[in-house]
Amino acid sequence: MTIKIHPAIDSGLVPGNANFSGGTLSCQCSENAVKVKVDSQSAHNHVCGCTQCWKPEGVLFSQVAVVPRDKVSVIANADKLAIVDDSQVIQRYACQQCGAHMYGRIEDKTHPFYGLDFIHTELSSEQGWSAPEFAAFVSSIIESGESPENMSAVRSRISELGLESYDCLSPALMDAIATHTAKAAGASA
Ligand SMILES: [Zn+2]
Ligand SMILES: [Zn+2]
Repeated sequence: MTIKIHPAIDSGLVPGNANFSGGTLSCQCSENAVKVKVDSQSAHNHVCGCTQCWKPEGVLFSQVAVVPRDKVSVIANADKLAIVDDSQVIQRYACQQCGAHMYGRIEDKTHPFYGLDFIHTELSSEQGWSAPEFAAFVSSIIESGESPENMSAVRSRISELGLESYDCLSPALMDAIATHTAKAAGASA
């Protein structure tokens, strides 16, 4: 049996379109769907195994990317949105009816990712969003109930799809966080 990582990549990565400039995310409600307009291509798209990101039912990983927060606007049924857990750094706005996370926002201006909203491009019917570039927090799927014995098969499948597996973020993003921290601390970076 082939291990399923995420429906958007299970049959192979779909390359992004360099000229793509955004689309509209819709929640999974069949009526009165929450709609979020994104006026930007996504960046740093990846699959994530953490326990916080929104995943489709029965799927091991989420697929999550970032866009500038000023390019994100809720254009329909905003009253259905609520923050999932306001103790988290990323405030994830979810549809209270279907549970889909529409966007995640950081309000802490000192955070390395302040200014970027987290989105799930699979909620858009438009094609051309940037493709996933790596798998983050792979070991964390054990926290969601995956058996530790399956991890090497999961990592092999991720590799077969052409992605690197990391147990935190990618080296480029970890370096960006450390650089931000070093600058904030006054270290030369
Ligand atoms: Zn909904
Ligand atoms: Zn995550």
